[in-house]
Amino acid sequence: MTGHSFNPFEMAQAQFDKVADLLELDNSTRELLRNPLREYQFLIPVRMDDGQVKVFRGFRVQHNDSRGPSKGGIRFHPHETIDTVRALAMWMTWKCAVVDIPLGGGKGGVICDPHSLSDREQEQICRGWVRQLARNVGPINDVPAPDVMTNAQHMLWMLDEYEHIHGGKYPGFITGKPVGMGGSLGRTEATGYGVIYTLREALKIMGLDPKKTTCAVQGFGNVAQYAIQLYKQLGGTVVCVSSWDQQDQTSYTFKKTSGIDLDELRKITDRFGGIDKGKARGLGYEVLPGEAWIEQEVDILIPAALENQVTGESVKKINKNVKIVAEGANGPTTIEADRVLEERKIYVIPDFLANAGGVTCSYFEQVQSNMNYFWDKDDVLQRLDFKMTSAYKAVHEMHVKRNIYMRDAAYAIAIDRVARACRDRGWV
Ligand code: NAD
Repeated sequence: MTGHSFNPFEMAQAQFDKVADLLELDNSTRELLRNPLREYQFLIPVRMDDGQVKVFRGFRVQHNDSRGPSKGGIRFHPHETIDTVRALAMWMTWKCAVVDIPLGGGKGGVICDPHSLSDREQEQICRGWVRQLARNVGPINDVPAPDVMTNAQHMLWMLDEYEHIHGGKYPGFITGKPVGMGGSLGRTEATGYGVIYTLREALKIMGLDPKKTTCAVQGFGNVAQYAIQLYKQLGGTVVCVSSWDQQDQTSYTFKKTSGIDLDELRKITDRFGGIDKGKARGLGYEVLPGEAWIEQEVDILIPAALENQVTGESVKKINKNVKIVAEGANGPTTIEADRVLEERKIYVIPDFLANAGGVTCSYFEQVQSNMNYFWDKDDVLQRLDFKMTSAYKAVHEMHVKRNIYMRDAAYAIAIDRVARACRDRGWV
């Protein structure tokens, strides 16, 4: 779901190769870990509201399950590609490993645009996706979750179809379910909050008071909104956010130097995270081109929209004051841009560490569903904070001890854990 020349899977493999060299991994382990173990591609025919049948293409990739069942979201996007899903599945393997939860990496998707689909049509896509995979996914082998443009309602339709097919109740089949229907409190906030737990620790290490920092955010969806909420609670100022405008098919940045007001922006945002630019102007926001978020004179950048956003070109626009890039999105930084960040010594909290709060809370949801005992929100968030903070500290320590880039440090920890699991099982 990206530009023509950018291939996220090649990028994921290049990131892996760099650290595999560093760890001096043997050839068979490399071969096993730089490719998905299994992948499924299939068609989902749906009778649309106008009576015509439309055929959608669906995917599921299980990258590695040596540490536990595969885990990862399902995206609905008009530009979804198998290579994007492969990359995301691979990143899920590293993400689960870096926060040390007993799960592997998977990802799924459907090429479709929910903006132009009725609820009934979306429900049919969800049920069709499960019908095609009902024997290849499940609580003991692969547990899906929501991702870009999918939500708790989609998960419930999928669970219902899965239970219908298998004739029983399997709440551990899927996570991101609605609260009260097996969902965990805190899941909605988890990814965005997780980004800020790691950012808070980084600021401590750098001796920066959050109250004196400013930040620019790309995206205004689930991850961005909750990251902004917690960052503001720590006292930070968000000077701008950007979002995709479905009507104009482009993105815009919404800026208020004194700091954006989360609640007022939420009121003029659609369910896909698109901000109404007319209404934003009315509220006193400057409406700038989509890329303007990256060139702001701030301390922190949080890309929290999509992959391939900090590129060889756009990285040149990053202001000299920027000290930290906390990657909320998956794969927001290209290899070329990453080299520049490393050279400029900008402190990067890499995606699969920064945004691991979502999968960590999904893991908590599985645990709660399996026990049929649900924790209160404070309990969930405290456990989440503990997991994210411990993972962040381990990565930072590795970065200091081995004098390697933060992304490489996170990879070194994750790859080592997964390689060890493959070896211990006798796979390599
Ligand atoms: P979302 O669909 O809720 O929000 C995406 C936001 O990005 C929207 O505000 C949209 O308008 C904006 N956007 C899209 N294209 C843009 C562009 N070109 N420029 C500026 N804004 C743009 O998605 P989300 O759940 O917040 O996920 C965001 C990213 O975080 C994705 O990379 C996703 O894979 C990753 N992620 C999400 C979770 C999760 O729990 N939701 C967990 C881990 C990683």
